[in-house]
Amino acid sequence: MLQLKNIYKVYETGDLKQTALDGVSLNFRESEFVAILGQSGSGKTTMLNIIGGLDQYDKGDLIINGKSTKEFKDRDWDAYRNHSIGFVFQSYNLIPHQTVLSNVELALTLSGVSKTERRKRAKEVLERVGLGKQLHKRPSQMSGGQMQRVAIARALINDPDILLADEPTGALDSETSVQIMDLLKEISKDKLIIMVTHNPELAEEYANRIIKLRDGNIVDDSNPCRIEELQVNKERGERKLSKTSMSFGTALSLSLNNLKTKKARTLMTAFAGSIGIIGIALILSLSSGVKSYIAKVQEDTLSSYPVSIESQTVDMTSMMENMMGMGREEENNDLDKVYSRNIMTGMIESMSAQMSKNDLKSFKEYLETGNTNIDDYANVIQYGYDLGLQIYKGDTSNGIVKVSPESVYDKLGFGGMSNSPMSGATGGFKVWTELLGNQTLLESQYDVVAGTWPKNYDEILLVVDKNNEISDAYLYSIGLLDDSELENKMNKIQNGEAVEETTEVSSYSYEDILNLTYKLVLNSDYYEKDNNIWVDKSENSIYMKKLLDNALELKVVGIVKPSEEAVSASINGAIAYTSDLTEYVVNNINDSEIVKEQKDNPEVNVFTGLKFETDENDSTNSQIDMSTLTDEEKAYLASLSQEELSALMKQQNNSTKATYEDNLSLLGCVDLSNPSTINIYSKDFEAKESIEDIISDYNEEKIDQGKDEYVVTYNDMVGLMMSSVTSIIDIISYVLIAFVAISLIVSSIMIGIITYISVLERTKEIGILRSIGASKKDISRVFNAETLIVGFAAGAMGILVTVLLNIPINMIIKSVANISDVSKLPVEGGVILVVISMVLTVIAGLIPSKIAAKKDPVEALRTE
Ligand code: ADP
Ligand code: MG
Repeated sequence: MLQLKNIYKVYETGDLKQTALDGVSLNFRESEFVAILGQSGSGKTTMLNIIGGLDQYDKGDLIINGKSTKEFKDRDWDAYRNHSIGFVFQSYNLIPHQTVLSNVELALTLSGVSKTERRKRAKEVLERVGLGKQLHKRPSQMSGGQMQRVAIARALINDPDILLADEPTGALDSETSVQIMDLLKEISKDKLIIMVTHNPELAEEYANRIIKLRDGNIVDDSNPCRIEELQVNKERGERKLSKTSMSFGTALSLSLNNLKTKKARTLMTAFAGSIGIIGIALILSLSSGVKSYIAKVQEDTLSSYPVSIESQTVDMTSMMENMMGMGREEENNDLDKVYSRNIMTGMIESMSAQMSKNDLKSFKEYLETGNTNIDDYANVIQYGYDLGLQIYKGDTSNGIVKVSPESVYDKLGFGGMSNSPMSGATGGFKVWTELLGNQTLLESQYDVVAGTWPKNYDEILLVVDKNNEISDAYLYSIGLLDDSELENKMNKIQNGEAVEETTEVSSYSYEDILNLTYKLVLNSDYYEKDNNIWVDKSENSIYMKKLLDNALELKVVGIVKPSEEAVSASINGAIAYTSDLTEYVVNNINDSEIVKEQKDNPEVNVFTGLKFETDENDSTNSQIDMSTLTDEEKAYLASLSQEELSALMKQQNNSTKATYEDNLSLLGCVDLSNPSTINIYSKDFEAKESIEDIISDYNEEKIDQGKDEYVVTYNDMVGLMMSSVTSIIDIISYVLIAFVAISLIVSSIMIGIITYISVLERTKEIGILRSIGASKKDISRVFNAETLIVGFAAGAMGILVTVLLNIPINMIIKSVANISDVSKLPVEGGVILVVISMVLTVIAGLIPSKIAAKKDPVEALRTE
């Protein structure tokens, strides 16, 4: 069944040619115990290795079960070794970091036998060599004889046809040698055993055929096998040539066990490898943390600084450019005089050019068509109206006190502020403001300190700051402090008198505040019809008292303050009311008799009963022109008392130039379809771009239709300031990551070197694995598994260290900047970094594992 035909093997080292086998021809029977004797260097080991497929012959042929091996590929030899051959070496060649059981099982894992089957067969065969009770020992814990038994068990586990033993007793004492020989004799009953030995007595006693070698030639054969004696077992041959392969699981467990024996080194390697990962992970945590913080700031800021479109607007961007002299060419003045830089004309020009009127009625219609998808981008759209709520203190026991419009500031001369064109951009100074129509947004920004959010149109809120404080400026305006005191102070200061600074802090219980009430008066309520005309009664205290008694009562139902997390808040006043109140006021004014009357007779001024002046009957005369009056009107004038007449004259003076529109606005009459401001609060920065797109779509549409006067301009202050912050952070983190990546590369190279050291250390193991049938691929898989484990350990360690480092880093940031939990590693980032670490180390280990795979098994086995 095994036939050597004229086998030659020559070793070349440099110029020296060493003929190890010089035309050897031999036949072997299916079961016999062959001993090979010969001096050292006579070619015994070479012959054994060639028979075992561990080494290849140069000339001749090796015929296995009638099949020539001339055309054998690497994988055929691997399969042959795994299935048909069992090797037993002088130096046992066990894998030191594996248990006895795993050492024996190893050959079976290569042929893909299931785990339970492997266990069973390994135990059986260990039982057979008398080691049934030592399964879980390591080779280093055993005697030489025991180790050789393990080696024999390993050689037998695949039930090979041929057992090749190279001086199996060479390292054993004579007593143990005899035991091993007994075992081999027993096995030889149904197997071919070819044993190299130095000991002629043992050969004499145990072998049934002795072959003597000298200088690569057979000089004696005690029991030659004739060619006719050879039986060919074809079927067996086919089975035995099926392919072998090590599963990745086996490779992993081999490497894991190997790494376990070098815990300290593995840990240190992993740690060194993790440093780059730690660096990148830290940068990632910080930059993603800061970015999400900025995103939150942006969202919060955007809610207080919306994209704002006003009926009258100034283009802030070009104003600012003008003021800063941007876009102006740099002049190269001779430095001998002082030169003027002329900006005023440009500013005034751009001021008037950019002071554009927006037709918000048409734009509102556009937004409300529902074709714009603006709801996808905006948290809320707020339509503002020039309401000028008329509000009085609910408590009239100390007289009638008006608190809105902000009378205090009117008195101090700041009154114009809230109406300036800047107010939309700066928020202005308003005490009474309308709440945004998005309750979720509000609740994310504010905590209720006491009471509840308003639910009805007559319910309002007091807004305090994070410390439960409210500025005295507001306190005067909402009537909690007496504003006449402030007026006194103001007068004193203007007269150069000394004024004591108020240091005393007043406080109010929640209960007091929740008991506050205000009275709302409609602009139209100030007028009472007297005969045919409407007379302003706001100076008449009896009328006002009655009016206030019947007026709508506004109740403070809650106190809110900005929540801890909120960076910015959308309410910029002290008292906030719902949009329902706005609607209530608008509808009731529109339903009032005076407004209806004015609207029914657009030509007649309801305050005078006279026609509005038009261009045709233009008159600059403020006196009533008696000649134009009808008799009826003359009679009416004559019937008036002196007081009524002077009131009429006053109104006539005021309204000489009065128009229909002026009258409606005096009456607080507002058209809900025609807002004075539209504030669009976008969801985030990207959404804001979409909102701006929607506006420019609208503008283009209008220009296409030739309706240029409908084009709207808007202001976006935050956009102006913040747009580049995120991209700057991105750039900074990319640069940092690029720097840290260098350390990753360095650590990868280091891991490559350490893998190479591991290859050198495990050379013997490579030889052993090859001898039991592992292919080159299997060998590189073992080392790839090792680098994969190291890479995973490095990545996992890096992530763990980063997570731990983030704790003190966050504490420091908290104490310095008072922002909590900034540094936070995103989960996907962590996973990706571990994967990167594994990929990098595997790449770094590719070359060493290739080197390992290429190692010559015979040489590998010879290394110590
Ligand atoms: P034995 O096992 O009988 O002592 P070997 O088969 O090991 O002898 O060696 C036979 C001859 O081949 C020796 O002269 C040895 O020096 C030579 N030889 C064996 N292996 C190699 C090798 N890898 N490179 C060069 N010469 C070798
Ligand atoms: Mg030898």
